[in-house]
Amino acid sequence: MRKRLATPGPTEVPQRLLLAGAQEIIHHRSVEMEALVADINDALPRIFSTTQDVYTIVSSGTGSMEAAVANLFTRGEKVLVVSNGYFGERFLGIVRAYGLEAVVVSSRWGTSVDPAQVAAAYADHPDLRGVLVVHSETSTGALNDVKAIGRLFADTDVLVIVDAISGLVSHELKMDEWGLDVVLAASHKAFMLPPGLAFIAVSQRAWAKAETIDAQAYYWSFKRLRQFHPMPPSSPAVSLQLALHESLRMIESEGLEAIQKRQRVIGDSTMRALVAVGFRPFVEPPNERNYVVTAVTAPQGLDTSELLEVLSTRYGVTMTGGQGEFVGSLLRVGHVGSVDLLDIAAIIAAVELSLLQLNHSFTIGAASSALITAYHEENQ
Ligand SMILES: *Cc1c(COP(=O)(O)O)cnc(C)c1O
Repeated sequence: MRKRLATPGPTEVPQRLLLAGAQEIIHHRSVEMEALVADINDALPRIFSTTQDVYTIVSSGTGSMEAAVANLFTRGEKVLVVSNGYFGERFLGIVRAYGLEAVVVSSRWGTSVDPAQVAAAYADHPDLRGVLVVHSETSTGALNDVKAIGRLFADTDVLVIVDAISGLVSHELKMDEWGLDVVLAASHKAFMLPPGLAFIAVSQRAWAKAETIDAQAYYWSFKRLRQFHPMPPSSPAVSLQLALHESLRMIESEGLEAIQKRQRVIGDSTMRALVAVGFRPFVEPPNERNYVVTAVTAPQGLDTSELLEVLSTRYGVTMTGGQGEFVGSLLRVGHVGSVDLLDIAAIIAAVELSLLQLNHSFTIGAASSALITAYHEENQ
């Protein structure tokens, strides 16, 4: 049975990238590596819309989140954590582990955070040193307005740290123009690669702060990354970098705008397909959703845990549900990366087949028909 990943990370890796990663290993202190790294370091800042260097580290996404906290803040400093999902909570956990004082601005899971709430928190806490915010909240499907949040702190010395791990590439993000100080991304989301690399871009304002701090970090040290740049400070994940080189070529040849349009059309079409068989959009208002994942609440009487089980055992399709109180009611269809209409058509067909298997009552073909209609309309 062919396996299909409809998860928002890891994502499916196109064959072209698997093959690039299967090349012979090159030594990391070699002329070939220098050339590889030069191309990567040249392309990454364009993806982040920054003139700063972007550092590639061997880590899952979370390591880059921890590195940002470890290098930019010291014990007892006050930061604001914007939290409307699982990854916002993760930032909070890291901030607490490092002994920072956290002010939390939260909003209900499935909503995005109102930048006015962030402004109000800053008015109450003028001693804030940083703001940590997730761009695309993969756990709920919401998109936070990091452009507006960045603008709030443009003329301050408050550092804005953005987890764009699933949002970068999938959505517009302009690091320099929006005044973002640290932007984080990872290989296994829109870069279409296996997990294992994270990317960190650091603004001038953040460097000025980092210079003054005796960071409790060695492997995660920003200063060490900069000292060795353009080469990696310790053994890089060479195979992943070979694949990254190819992934950046794919991203640049399609173009960020074209990718973002594809993501939007796929996201909207997937939503219309699921709504046609009784699911409801989880994000409220629905236009504040992200296009990394389509998150929906199941119709009455349907347990998404059972649906996920049938999808995976009978059809080889992996999707995700919800966490905590949303286990059993939430369904998340990931479609970040290389996904196209026909991939989604297969996924939606598998959903219909699984609903039949579960004796759920619906009109056969309704989701597939809505998908094709929506896609056709949006591509006119
Ligand atoms: C995937 C993801 C992460 C990082 O998770 P890892 O498992 O550490 O790679 C962080 N934030 C968001 C929004 C994500 O989607």
